[in-house]
Amino acid sequence: MNKQLRKAVIAGNWKMNKTPAEAKVLIEEIAPLVKDAACDVVVCVPYVDLCTALEATKGTNIGVGAENCHWEPSGAYTGEISAPMLKSMGVEYVIIGHSERRTYFGETDVTVNKRIRAALDNGLKVILCVGEYLEQREQGITAELVAMQVKIALGGVSAEELKNIIIAYEPVWAIGTGLTATADQAEEVCACIRATLASLYCQDCANAVTIQYGGSMNPKNAAELLSKENVDGGLIGGASLKAPDFAAIVEATKQ
Ligand code: PEP
Repeated sequence: MNKQLRKAVIAGNWKMNKTPAEAKVLIEEIAPLVKDAACDVVVCVPYVDLCTALEATKGTNIGVGAENCHWEPSGAYTGEISAPMLKSMGVEYVIIGHSERRTYFGETDVTVNKRIRAALDNGLKVILCVGEYLEQREQGITAELVAMQVKIALGGVSAEELKNIIIAYEPVWAIGTGLTATADQAEEVCACIRATLASLYCQDCANAVTIQYGGSMNPKNAAELLSKENVDGGLIGGASLKAPDFAAIVEATKQ
């Protein structure tokens, strides 16, 4: 089983939630609950919470990530944050291509690719999000669409650099809706993503990549989703804001 080759990663995506003071409280609640985790644990937090999160996670097994980064290192991009800025703070991970960025902020596969380039060039680990809208699933184009998103996002990324990429399969219809893909649906698309990686790189390269599922993952459905051969972890939105729920999902990777 190739699943054993990969480290499971459970990452919280806090989205636009928590002030720095609230972030400190939440991390202090999470830390003791996940200290014996069998997986890598990450919290991706709003930019204004990064300093606090980095301080509060010192000496713990929790990594810290941002929720996006710009492709330029600096310049006239009001409101944006660059990869070198994140790296200089000590941030380890960055989410790129989240469907909320694509839907509400006009991000495209091409800008996702540029942001990934900047993140990798600056030594950040990337959590690349891909996934289909409900209409696209109903049209039967999920596999092609997700493969295309992966191919464009990873254009110019070498096999060596692939080691710093995690891919999160996040069906858009399941994000924040309480609707979850069935474990079989998640497995089917995660397996397609791995096959796409094998076609772009090599089978061993593909087998080493952590592929997460994201979309209303919670303590009740986590174990079944995570039991699937190609589901190596989760990107968790709503449930990552409640320490016991997030910790229960982390615990579910021990099965
Ligand atoms: C997400 O924001 O990446 C996500 C999966 O959200 P939720 O768990 O709330 O569906």
